[in-house]
Amino acid sequence: MTCDLIVLGAGPAGANAALAASEAGLKVVLFDQQPEAGGQVWRAPSPGLAVPPSPEAESGGALRARLAASAVDRRFGRTVWSVGGRFRVDAVGPAGNETVEAPRLIAATGAHERVVPFPGWTLPGVIGLAAATVLLKSHRASPGRRVVVAGCGPLLAVVAAGILKEGGTVAAIADLSGPQDWLGALPALSTQPRLLARGAGWALKIGAARVPVLFRHGVRAAEGEEALARVRLAPVDAAGAFAAGAERVLEVDGLCVGHGLVPGAEVTRLFRVEQGFDRRRGGFVPRLDEDGRTSLHGLYACGDGAGLRGAMVAEAAGRLAGLAAAHDAGALDASAFQSAAATPRAALARAHAFSDAMADMMALRPAQVAAIPPDTVICRCEDVTRAEIEAAHGDGARDMNQLKHFTRCGMGPCQGRFCGDVAAELLAAKVGSREAVGTFTARPPLRPVALADLLGAFDYSDIPIPAPAPL
Ligand SMILES: Cc1cc2nc3c(=O)[nH]c(=O)nc-3n(C[C@H](O)[C@H](O)[C@H](O)COP(=O)(O)OP(=O)(O)OC[C@H]3O[C@@H](n4cnc5c(N)ncnc54)[C@H](O)[C@@H]3O)c2cc1C
Repeated sequence: MTCDLIVLGAGPAGANAALAASEAGLKVVLFDQQPEAGGQVWRAPSPGLAVPPSPEAESGGALRARLAASAVDRRFGRTVWSVGGRFRVDAVGPAGNETVEAPRLIAATGAHERVVPFPGWTLPGVIGLAAATVLLKSHRASPGRRVVVAGCGPLLAVVAAGILKEGGTVAAIADLSGPQDWLGALPALSTQPRLLARGAGWALKIGAARVPVLFRHGVRAAEGEEALARVRLAPVDAAGAFAAGAERVLEVDGLCVGHGLVPGAEVTRLFRVEQGFDRRRGGFVPRLDEDGRTSLHGLYACGDGAGLRGAMVAEAAGRLAGLAAAHDAGALDASAFQSAAATPRAALARAHAFSDAMADMMALRPAQVAAIPPDTVICRCEDVTRAEIEAAHGDGARDMNQLKHFTRCGMGPCQGRFCGDVAAELLAAKVGSREAVGTFTARPPLRPVALADLLGAFDYSDIPIPAPAPL
């Protein structure tokens, strides 16, 4: 099947890109592995699950209604495992593999979670902060009965308030940031009063439940025999390194921990577009023009996958990329494009201060990585420890692909999405810079898919047997 534009990802960025391009007259196919549009922030609840009203549920519902009323060809429940050519997308869904081709492709694949490892982080009962939002939003399930919420950034408050709402107890919030960091961010956060008020609402709920908030504290270790039983929290300094002070030990059955997000830029990386390392944006991101065009003609990127800037920016940048694709395809002339682009461009300009302040709160703290004990597992798919990564450097590994060859780090089912950023930071500390160590080369499958789904129904007798080679 062919169309004018393929959009990959139906979060705030991709869904708005698809809508803008479709409204301008393009034939658009929109893929997402989720059963519904909304992405991470406006994730739809599981079918039949009633959710209480919230601004996120309202925004998600409105987006899904706009898509349902549009001409966008929505292919949800499809895992895109391969992109190539100029441009061909392969996705596995309920009817097996399907292929769509188009002269233009927008990558809006969002972000992945970052957890800086600590002893015990792979125990059952320890879950990512962002993953906990999925559990809370999709299933209304608390990640434990008594839970520590730890890490940095706004998801701390989102998750703690969500656990309280679902009847769980939050034993403590351990925030790597200090009150002075939040106060310093206040002027930037006040540029978005609606979001600031939402944050204040969560803070009030947390305060009313008398949850202890430990500023400038990090997780020293998670402990337990078969599953998590206790969490050790210790003070940290402004850089994220452990500092002098009393340790606190809390008996819990859940730990939600996260240290920001990493852009999911595998699609643009697969096409080897120009990219650069930007710590504030979460790592390596594609270089874009102001409308979302990459260095490869016909390929666009927007949303958190193009650099972390949050949902508000994702919405506007998505719309802009969709309009740019429509303009480049000849569906919008220059003046129609400029006038349609004015609103999302203004929204992007307004969102800058807020999104930068949030991104700074969630940025990786190199001192925290430096404090990881040597025998701590970094790549949990392949059981590779910090000591093994550093030994690989001693044996000659100088970039991420060499590290992969030496240790198998990044070769498991997550393909380095979870461990890659921290492994790169560890190697960069030895080699000199993140630019020098680069990234793992992106390769299909972009997401794990079952071979049986790709092959479909077949009979062994249909497989042609080549004639034996002459001796
Ligand atoms: C797990 C998680 C939870 C988060 N929770 C929150 C939250 O509660 N509040 C908040 O403000 N921010 C949250 N964020 C940050 C949030 O993702 C962004 O601010 C915002 O949603 C970015 O929008 P986006 O459209 O760029 O990406 P997303 O909303 O992440 O949308 C990307 C979409 O691409 C799809 N996709 C990616 N790869 C493939 C593939 N190969 N095949 C098919 N589909 C694919 C995904 O299923 C997803 O729906 C969360 C991030 C993560 C990673």
